[in-house]
Amino acid sequence: MSTRPEIEADAQSFIERIFEHLNVAEDVRQRLACAKFSAQVSIPVRMDDGTLEVFQGWRVQYDDTRGPTKGGVRLHPKVSAAEVTDLSFWMTIKCAVVDLPFGGAKGGICVDPKRLSRLELERLSRGYIRAIHDLIGPDRDIPAPDVNSNATVMGWMADEYAQIERRQVPAVITGKPIGLGGSAGRVAATGRGALQVLQLWASREDKSPQQLRIAVQGFGNAGYHFARLAHQAGYRIVALSDSKGAIYDKAGLDPQPIWEHKNQTRELKDMVYCDESVCEQSKAERISHEELLELDVDVLVLAALEDAIDDDNAERIKAKVILEIANGPVTRKADQLLADAGVVILPDVLVNAGGVIVSHLEWVQNRTGDYWSEETVEQRLDERIGKAAEACFARAEAEQVSLRTAAYLQGVERIADAMSNQGTRTYFNARSD
Ligand code: GLU
Repeated sequence: MSTRPEIEADAQSFIERIFEHLNVAEDVRQRLACAKFSAQVSIPVRMDDGTLEVFQGWRVQYDDTRGPTKGGVRLHPKVSAAEVTDLSFWMTIKCAVVDLPFGGAKGGICVDPKRLSRLELERLSRGYIRAIHDLIGPDRDIPAPDVNSNATVMGWMADEYAQIERRQVPAVITGKPIGLGGSAGRVAATGRGALQVLQLWASREDKSPQQLRIAVQGFGNAGYHFARLAHQAGYRIVALSDSKGAIYDKAGLDPQPIWEHKNQTRELKDMVYCDESVCEQSKAERISHEELLELDVDVLVLAALEDAIDDDNAERIKAKVILEIANGPVTRKADQLLADAGVVILPDVLVNAGGVIVSHLEWVQNRTGDYWSEETVEQRLDERIGKAAEACFARAEAEQVSLRTAAYLQGVERIADAMSNQGTRTYFNARSD
């Protein structure tokens, strides 16, 4: 087995097909074949009971040809070097698909954060930054939130960086709380961007929100904001799930009270407001995670983790459209099976780019010291993701390829162009006389 920080074989063979389609220079293939920089760190944390635990963390900077590398930090017990490498590669593609001046990176800590007290989580977040401090910076690599890491964690991380540097450097981390230099609109950005892509697809297909029934797998930050905004826009959210369970109501659910109840009790239940307080309503049925994925709905939203649909369950999926808010929720084999069955997949590298788009806006605001209203941020987000989505839709149609292939063609073409500008074999072999 190679010890190079490479993406997994499936992703490798997919990108090879993109290279062939675009006829990119051999130099570009070689440069994109493995991560530019990969670090594993040990983070010692003093626990509340006085014991010491040492957590493993990673930061992988996949490619920085188009700008400083960018990507979140994931806190999860399944985080590994291989996972962080794949995620850093997808960040590289994603930033290029939406034409941000960033390369791609990802970080992760192998931990179940739900097991930690708030003080332990703060120590771990600060310890991670002490371990990678000299690898990051506003012009080098800019972390952000990802699965299980939120604005509070980003605030601690930015503060730790500032303490080490003995100066404020807000642009080193994005997704911070607004009071600590965060951007208006960042928390809802991934969900909002995903809804924009769905709306554009729906209007091209002449479908109104009222005609589309949606099931959402993954009711974390991105899944919640997507569901809330989609419900407001008139779509019918018929099912929701989180790591503990799933609920279904064919008449439609209101995500807002369910979210509030979940945050209070860590339990997913159908709730309605009665007399200005939350009270239980028994209409919704409890279903299993598998049943949610296999519901007969128009749109299945995947907003949890990788590999939710694989070759085991792909053939049982009844949704006509899949909206990938998570990174890599469909395996390559399942992708092919779904395509053969005529399922349209709106791909992760486009659909979930809203988060990094507003991270870029936060970085710009931090560097200029000029802060914008939520309306301005939302307008810029809608414009950027809308433009990228239209370009992907047009390319998929013109070249008769899937939307995932079209998005990768857009992204890889931009990366290849940047790399080629630094000179390729053809350039260096040409005679100058
Ligand atoms: N973790 C998010 C993603 O996967 C956001 C990254 C960022 O804002 O840098 O796109």
